[in-house]
Parts: sequence; structure tokens; C-alpha cells
Amino acid sequence: MSRPSQSPASRSPEGLTPRRVLIVGGVAGGASCAARLRRLDESAEIVVFDRGPYVSFANCGLPYYVGNVIADERSLLVASRELFRERFNVEVQTETEVTAIDRQARKITVRDVRTGVTRSEDYNVLVLSPGAAPIRPPLPGVDLPGVFAVRTIPDSRRIRSWIGERHTRTAVVVGGGFIGLEMVENLIHRGLAVTVLEKLPQVMPPLDPEMAIPLMEHLTSKGVRLHLGDGLARIEVRADHGLVVVAESGVRLPADLVILAIGVRPETALARDAGLQIGPRGGVVVDAQMRTSDPNIWAVGDVVEVRDVLTGQETVLPLAGPANRQGRVAAESIAGRATQFRGVQATAVVGVLGLTVASTGASEKGLRRAGVTNFEKVYLHPGHHAGYYPGARPIHLKLLFSVPDGRILGAQAVGAEGVEKRIDVIATAIQFRGTVHDLAEGEFCYAPQFGAAKDPVNLAGMLGENVINGDMPVADWLALGRTDALVLDVREPDEFAGGHMPQAVNLPLSHLRARYRELPRDRDLWICCGVGQRAYYATRFLTQLGYRARNLSGGYTTYKALKAAGLVS
Ligand SMILES: Cc1cc2nc3c(=O)[nH]c(=O)nc-3n(C[C@H](O)[C@H](O)[C@H](O)COP(=O)(O)OP(=O)(O)OC[C@H]3O[C@@H](n4cnc5c(N)ncnc54)[C@H](O)[C@@H]3O)c2cc1C
Repeated sequence: MSRPSQSPASRSPEGLTPRRVLIVGGVAGGASCAARLRRLDESAEIVVFDRGPYVSFANCGLPYYVGNVIADERSLLVASRELFRERFNVEVQTETEVTAIDRQARKITVRDVRTGVTRSEDYNVLVLSPGAAPIRPPLPGVDLPGVFAVRTIPDSRRIRSWIGERHTRTAVVVGGGFIGLEMVENLIHRGLAVTVLEKLPQVMPPLDPEMAIPLMEHLTSKGVRLHLGDGLARIEVRADHGLVVVAESGVRLPADLVILAIGVRPETALARDAGLQIGPRGGVVVDAQMRTSDPNIWAVGDVVEVRDVLTGQETVLPLAGPANRQGRVAAESIAGRATQFRGVQATAVVGVLGLTVASTGASEKGLRRAGVTNFEKVYLHPGHHAGYYPGARPIHLKLLFSVPDGRILGAQAVGAEGVEKRIDVIATAIQFRGTVHDLAEGEFCYAPQFGAAKDPVNLAGMLGENVINGDMPVADWLALGRTDALVLDVREPDEFAGGHMPQAVNLPLSHLRARYRELPRDRDLWICCGVGQRAYYATRFLTQLGYRARNLSGGYTTYKALKAAGLVS
């Protein structure tokens, strides 16, 4: 049975001909599309369907609800059906699943989740925003009681009950990405002993391995057990009714609770069954206006493939910001505006037990995978504000830029304070196709408790400029094992004695002007200090005297991270 073209809850003002816009999925992308479309088009009849019991809830808050940081479930409800109806004249049908699309007849089939009754609905325009589903690998035990994924409010409610009712003491989080780490923090907050099982040898896969080291050290220092480089094989029930996670290596990790956080997959079943074009990355193909291969159907959010603005390649990026912006672009397009989605650059942040990790743009490994070779990188470890003001905490920052034009390609940062601010600034510069020169020239807020007269972002840009214009040639850390360069450590002897690279010889910067003649002129000099600053001074001094000096960017601090990541010996 087809419904009449206008439901009583969603009326158009008199004299306007309603266009029926149906939206599948009422959270990030779907809800923002509905609200924006209403602001642009009072005549449209807008109906949102969600198979879950809520619309517009805060998925990003779910881990904190599990951790009881958000104690009241109602705080997760950003908007209600009533608000959509009263404020936007948008009808929301929850617990209503869209099961099929008939593109010829422009109808969808919907099923009432509570009763199982199906009916069909006509549309002029259809918007798909069904999101992405947590991956549940087809392995024994993944459906056992006590094994959870986190996607919905009922999911997190079930985890809370499990913890509360079972006196749960240990948890294994399978997957060390964003959601996995947020769950780690919140399970620790609930007093559980947590082990992370991660197939890669690092947590936070978007980061380059050496940038994940401070995070891994931090997790370990907080009592989190990391079991890396090993995949999930199966989950079993223990004799005492607890669970045991068995890794591919055979290692057995006991757990009273298991969280599966090994990634998400675009929910493309509806689109696929309807014959919409699906791209190589497994998402629905859309144009810059978020229109699918069917001119009457738009798609937004985690379900779509979008262009990575840096690599130019199609990608899937399951993040709330892009989903919201895409919902808005789709609404504008439906309303007849020419707005286009610019693409994504993967700007993301996660906070874990007092440490912040953020990144934007391409990683070094991503660039290498894409075959990009004309880039350079600098590492720096400045304080998050002026060192003379109490409480400065280091930010470990890596900046990637193309040579010779200096265009910023990506940045990653880890630290306790001020991390996301720097990455957001660099993210904005990337949006404007900015260069290291723009970062060096950037004018930022400064008072001692907030930043520095040379902000870490300025410093990153200045280092990049120094590389581009030849003032500070950098050595390739990854070639350390095969170079015949003389590795010169210019820290003071007590610092050198506290730890140094095996091949390094010590000539402190404070003695360099007196002793530089001892250095060979016919050999490359790779110069290292604590974080790269004194090595830069030494490099400038020596290159002006005709020596072939290069800076080991980021100094011994970066060396330790590279070594811990297995990238240098
Ligand atoms: C635990 C968690 C934490 C997160 N934290 C962050 C964060 O901190 N920062 C960040 O940027 N992103 C975060 N995300 C990701 C972010 O929530 C998503 O990228 C974003 O919500 C995607 O929006 P969407 O509209 O595509 O899909 P969703 O918001 O997932 O909405 C899809 C909706 O469609 C419904 N649906 C699916 N199929 C159908 C159907 N056939 N019929 C009817 N309804 C259907 C689903 O029930 C769901 O409610 C997090 C996600 C999770 C799960």
C-alpha cells in the first residue's frame, strides 16, 4: 500500500506544492540534512526514518555514557521527534526500517520494527544517511553474551548494565583505533583492568608509527596492557563463565567483557540492492553535491565515498563533521543551490587518559602508499605555552609538506595540552592550500598561559621554510642505518651520557666554535641534539663554514620514538 503523498504531521504552508523528501537515517547526516532543507524550503514534505528508537543522538558521546562521565542518558539526545515536528515541521518515524528502494516507481518499503508490518512510501527525493556498521568478523564467539560493539544508545546501555550487574573486573578491547581507545579510557574510568588487542604493531592506525609511541607509552603508564601485532582468532567461555579472547598467536586474554572496535563498514545494502553505484572503497558513489548515480537520490555520511583533498583519491571517512557538512550540502543541492562538498582531509582527535592525539591530512605512510615522493617532514617538541610560565607541557608535532612548493600535506600531534588547537589551525591552512610559509607567518593568540610568541604552529612553519630554502637541510632518519655520515650529537656531555644513538660522537654546541676544525670536511655530518634546536644552530654554523651538515629533525626525542617503533636501530 502506498501512503498519501503528505502526512498530517508535515504540512506545507498554503499555496505551496509539496515535494516529498524521504531521509533514511536520522542521526548526523540525516538530521542535519532535514533541518537545513527545512530552512531552505518551506514547501517540502520531509520525513525521516530511523530503525532505532532515537533520532539525532550523540553517537560520539556513547563511550562517555559507558564510563558514566555522561551519567544521564537523556543528555545524549540532541533532538527529539517532537522538536523536529514543532521546530522544523519534519516528521520523524523511529523504529521504522527502510528495507528496499524501487527507483523506477520512486517508492521505498518501510517496516515497523515493533510489529513487522511493512508498507510503501512515495518519494520525489530520497536521501540515504544510514551510516556505517561496526565490523563483526565471522569468528567463533563474537556473538557470545558479554561481547559488545558500540554504535547505539541501547548498545551502551547494555554495556553499562553488564558492568553494573556482573561486577566486571577485566575487559579486552579488540581494536586500538578511535572508538577502541575511547572505550579504554571509559572502562578504566569504571575501574576495569583493560587489555587492547590490536592487529597492527601500533595503536591509532592513522598515525605514523613513531607518533603513536608517546600514546602507547602513556597507555602503558596508566596500566593498560597492549597486546599488539596480533589479531583476534576467537572468543571462548571460561569455566567460571567469564570470557577468554584467543589471539591468532594463541595468546589467551581473559576478560569479563569484550568490546569489538575493529572498524566500521558503510551500510550499503539498500543502495547496492537498488543498483546504485558503489565505489572501490565500498561506499556509495556521489558527486560533489552528494547526488548518487540516481538523480533523485542523494547520500551522505559514513555510507559514501568522498574525495581526499590531498591525495585526490576516493576514500571513506566515518566522522561526524564530514557527515554533518555533507547533510547540509545535500539539502542545499536538493533546494536547487550549487553548493559543493570540498572533500575530506581526515581531521580527527582522540583524548585518552589525559593525553590528546590529533591529526589532519596525509600521514607519511599514506603518502608513501599513494606513491608520493616529493615531500619532506619536520619533527618538533615545543611546550604548549611559553616555557617561563608554569605548567608548559610538550607537544610532539610532525609536519609533512611538499617540496619545493612547501604546501602543507599533513600534521600529527600528541600531548597533554593544546594539541587539537594546533592541528585545527594546520587543518584550516590545508583547506586554503596553505604552505609552510603561511604557518610561519600565521598570527595567533599569545599570552604566556596560552601559547608562545612563536607558537608551535609558527615554529613548524619556520622549520619547514628552513628546509625548503636550504637553511636547514634535514637528514633522513630512516637512512640512519645505512649512511656513512658522521652522526654528531651536540648536547652537553651529561645529556649524552644519559642516552644517545650508538653511532653518535659528542661535540657539544657550547664547544663547537672552538673545536669545529676537528670535524671532517669531506663527509656528511648528521647533527642531533635533544629536540632539534641546538642541532639547527650547529647546522647553520657549520654549513656557513662550508661543511656538509644536516639536522636530524626532532633530535634524540624523535630518535627514541623511531627506535621504539622499529624504524631505526
Ligand atoms: C561510539 C562512537 C563514537 C564516535 N565518536 C566520534 C567522534 O568523537 N568524532 C567524530 O567525528 N565521529 C565520531 N563517531 C563517528 C560519527 O558518529 C559518525 O561518523 C556519524 O554519526 C555518521 O553519521 P551518519 O549520518 O552517516 O550515520 P549515523 O550517525 O550512524 O546514523 C545512521 C542512522 O541510520 C539508521 N539506519 C541505518 N540503516 C537504516 C535503514 N535501513 N532504515 C532506517 N534507519 C536506518 C541507523 O539506525 C542510524 O541511527 C563516533 C561513532 C561512534 C559509534
